[in-house]
Amino acid sequence: MSLAPGSVIGIVGGGQLGRMSAQAAARLGYRVHIFSPEADGPAAQVSAASTVADYADLDALRRFASAVDVITFEFENLPAASLELLESLRPVRPGAKILAVSQDRLLEKRFLNDAGIATAPWAAVTSEAELEAAVARLGLPAVLKTTRLGYDGKGQTLLREPADLAPAFARLEPKPLVLEGFVDFAAEISVMVARGVDGTVVAFDAVENRHKHHILDLTLAPAPLPLDLLAEAHAIALTVAERLELVGIMGVEMFVTADGALLVNEIAPRPHNSGHWTMDACPCGQFEMHIRAVAGLPLPPAMRHSDAVMKNLIGPEDMALWPQILATPGLIPHHYGKAEARPGRKMGHFNRLFSKGSLPGEFGVEDALRLVGE
Ligand code: AMP
Repeated sequence: MSLAPGSVIGIVGGGQLGRMSAQAAARLGYRVHIFSPEADGPAAQVSAASTVADYADLDALRRFASAVDVITFEFENLPAASLELLESLRPVRPGAKILAVSQDRLLEKRFLNDAGIATAPWAAVTSEAELEAAVARLGLPAVLKTTRLGYDGKGQTLLREPADLAPAFARLEPKPLVLEGFVDFAAEISVMVARGVDGTVVAFDAVENRHKHHILDLTLAPAPLPLDLLAEAHAIALTVAERLELVGIMGVEMFVTADGALLVNEIAPRPHNSGHWTMDACPCGQFEMHIRAVAGLPLPPAMRHSDAVMKNLIGPEDMALWPQILATPGLIPHHYGKAEARPGRKMGHFNRLFSKGSLPGEFGVEDALRLVGE
């Protein structure tokens, strides 16, 4: 059953991913109702209705559910009781099983390895003794991470020498932790994959992501890497979506090792920053694809009509360039409507398109960034 135009899609979370999902939903004739603790955030500004309440406020969640036809997320770290309540009242897409796997790095790695998908070598760590044993097995350097609530490099630390172990174990919360062998990667790539209610699975081309201070800075679409590697990344993403019975869109982040192997680092069952290039380089971008899946509509092929570079605009330094970005032909600007440009905060992005097959690569990056002082 697909949702008729005029139906209401509930989105939990009020940030830019909700904003761009709501914009795509409006284009398909739907109304959006945002649930967020923050009033007048990026998503609420462009939506028909919003509920401002804490994610643990069950009464507010009940009222929200009764006002919508289907529920999705742009913020997945809901308390378990809140998610259970929502699932008992309305269809929740993607469902609780996927959220549970993606919220917990241990469940995530077990799921991936069981599906035959390679990850960095890892070990669960619940005590200092276990950490020492894990380091003896995986070696140093290694990366110690919380299993929950980590993003943009938060909740993790690099262990370089034995003296780093005890302080890192004491500092990282909540426990348990997971130790990962250090991956000396040649590139970081990701694939956005969507699955519809009818089981159709589509994936956008694999892209390369470059980070600065642990925050995504640039996406190059397609990734300037060998085609067989990109095909393998594509196949991995399809497997993940099918095994999890995804309904919606999901980002699958992978490392490309120096010898050309792919290791999955993380899965994110929602629109993803590394998919923002699709908004302008594809007839149906990641947000429309997500809303189509959530609304039970058919999914078109995830085709790309152009190559693209996406540049994130972070904090006050990048936003100081906003007038120049608007004045530069060829840059396609996206502003998130956040009032305050705090350092490290994602404020917007722009896309620059290149003719398909021209592989922007380093040339495109330089061209797109001349103005941003790179
Ligand atoms: P994550 O929070 O897992 O997405 O990690 C954030 C960033 O830290 C990644 O994008 C990598 O640049 C780096 N990183 C994470 N895990 C590893 C690892 N096992 N080896 C090397 N770098 C890593």
